[in-house]
Amino acid sequence: MNRQFSLDNRLALVSGGSRGIGLEIVKGFLSAGAEVIFTSRHEKDILEVLKELVTEKAHGFVCDVSRKEDIENLFERIKEIGTVDILVNNAGINIKQPLHELDYENYEKVIKTDLEGPVIMCSKVLPGMMAKRKGKIINICSMMSEYGSELNTAYAVSKGGIKLLTKNIAAEYGRYNIQCNGIGPGYIYTKLNEKLREPDKDGSKNIFERYIDSRIPLGHWGDPKDLAGPAVFLASEASDYVNGQILYVDGGFSSAIGDPSLL
Ligand code: NDP
Repeated sequence: MNRQFSLDNRLALVSGGSRGIGLEIVKGFLSAGAEVIFTSRHEKDILEVLKELVTEKAHGFVCDVSRKEDIENLFERIKEIGTVDILVNNAGINIKQPLHELDYENYEKVIKTDLEGPVIMCSKVLPGMMAKRKGKIINICSMMSEYGSELNTAYAVSKGGIKLLTKNIAAEYGRYNIQCNGIGPGYIYTKLNEKLREPDKDGSKNIFERYIDSRIPLGHWGDPKDLAGPAVFLASEASDYVNGQILYVDGGFSSAIGDPSLL
């Protein structure tokens, strides 16, 4: 591998690394040479992933990022391993609802997971990075960091917020040689959006999935693996002068109006 992309001797922390995009980022970091801590809310899933990864360089810890006390406990355990060089705030959920029928509990669940958790996680890694005068923070954003859509108030508020969290950290901590950037996945096949892709009765793609296909210049949804390379780039010295940017990994979705003849 080109040394610029090496993550040798780095300790990375990936929230929500048990499946989907987070798991592929964990695998990408491991293959670039990093030691990786990943989290999920479910011990069973963590054990399955550790079994699959078969490496002593991977550590999995139970942590619900919507709970401040879980994050405190996580960092107590991380102290035994080292200080975090790379943080990826990946864990995320969405609970859709119309704003005019607001269920505050569900709204709060999304905000605590997708926005407040990342804020607290950043606050925990920054002192170590400041002391080392080196660090990388990657926040997983979304198309909803730029666009609105039906029933997505809590998710859009969170993903818009995490975009500005990214820029604010870039502005405030660049002087410590800490780079903070975001990755904005487009439409990626994961559990998060499987309901949106429920096939029609005849087994064919539903109208929403086909509509999204037609909006993407590359013509198809992404695979979680598509996010691993961009994450390695933003975690490595190859991106040392990239700070405060959101890299949209969306097959061109955010650059195109779409072609209705493809529907
Ligand atoms: P998945 O649902 O496949 O995976 C989510 C991961 O986050 C799981 O590992 C899950 O583990 C973990 N997680 C969820 N809630 C918490 C929590 N409270 N504390 C700790 N871990 C948690 O989703 P994706 O891989 O699709 O999503 C990853 C990120 O990418 C999210 O931030 C999402 O918003 C973003 N994204 C995804 C897009 C897509 O098209 N898939 C598009 C744009 C953005 P467990 O349930 O075991 O806790």
